[in-house]
Amino acid sequence: MHVLITGGCGFIGSHIAEYHMDKGDVVHLIDDLSTGNFDNVEQFKDRPNFRFNQVDILTWPELERTVAWADRIYHMAAVVGVYRVMAEPIKVLSTNIPGCERLLRAAANSGWKPRILIASSSEVYGQGQGQAFAETDNIIIESAAHYRWNYAISKIADEAFGLSYAQSAHLPITLIRFFNTVGPRQSGRYGMVLPRFVEQAVANQPLTVYGDGEQTRCFCDVRDTVQALDRLANSQESIQEIVNVGNDREISMNELAQMVKTMSNSKSEIVHIPYEEAYGEVFLDIQRRKPNLEKFYRLTGYHHQWSLEATITDLIELARRKIKQS
Ligand code: UDP
Repeated sequence: MHVLITGGCGFIGSHIAEYHMDKGDVVHLIDDLSTGNFDNVEQFKDRPNFRFNQVDILTWPELERTVAWADRIYHMAAVVGVYRVMAEPIKVLSTNIPGCERLLRAAANSGWKPRILIASSSEVYGQGQGQAFAETDNIIIESAAHYRWNYAISKIADEAFGLSYAQSAHLPITLIRFFNTVGPRQSGRYGMVLPRFVEQAVANQPLTVYGDGEQTRCFCDVRDTVQALDRLANSQESIQEIVNVGNDREISMNELAQMVKTMSNSKSEIVHIPYEEAYGEVFLDIQRRKPNLEKFYRLTGYHHQWSLEATITDLIELARRKIKQS
């Protein structure tokens, strides 16, 4: 099979690439390396079934040809991460929306129907009402919060394009609402909490919990994610559907910080930092982000193989090895 991954040097993209190369598929990654990092895929570059172009999805002249080559496409290219979204609110809209549309238009014009998975996000649920988020929930964007929601808006637009192309051009498309994904190669540079806590703990630096730390998240190991994505791509039933992808074990940031500290035998203290200090301005955090996974289980039949403890053990080991090598 031929697999195209846009944003393929991002952390999730790199794991999708590895999964498919291990199965013998030919994998073509494109990435402008603005958020993605070539270090994530450097180790694969000499494999015969690996291809890579550093290009901008908005302007790359070969996009149409490459889309027509692919049996399966994972559209992961996007400006992501809370820090980036707050710092570059226009870029989030002007990259994420036309990038997705250009890809879908190319697929529609290719005369060929590649299986397409489009990355959306649990951000589209906004604040929610304290319940586990289900795909059928209404989406409410607060007017007062201005560009805080630009990422969510860009992903709502991508979903709308995806559903519309599936309907009008009969493309086999599935929209994936990713919840917090974690694992090796994830960078803390753009705000992601777990790699930050692990790096801080192994360096015996303070663990920086934002706000009061009682906000909760559910973390899914990326190695579970890629297997679930493959199952979704192989299912006819998931075509033209929106699906939550994640894990539903819930943990507060205070508990997470304590867990990382204990598991790494770290001397770090756990400090609380106000949101204004962390994000540079008043920031509306999501208090509770938990997926309803009924649809996920129905469509994939998948059982998670990675516990949060196993992921953290792995990340601590990798972070220690990195320190030793530097
Ligand atoms: N967070 C934190 N310390 C950090 C980075 C993030 O306490 O150093 C918090 C953040 O405010 C949020 C949670 O961890 O409540 C998850 O943040 P992340 O950016 O990883 O994911 P998202 O907020 O997009 O779910």
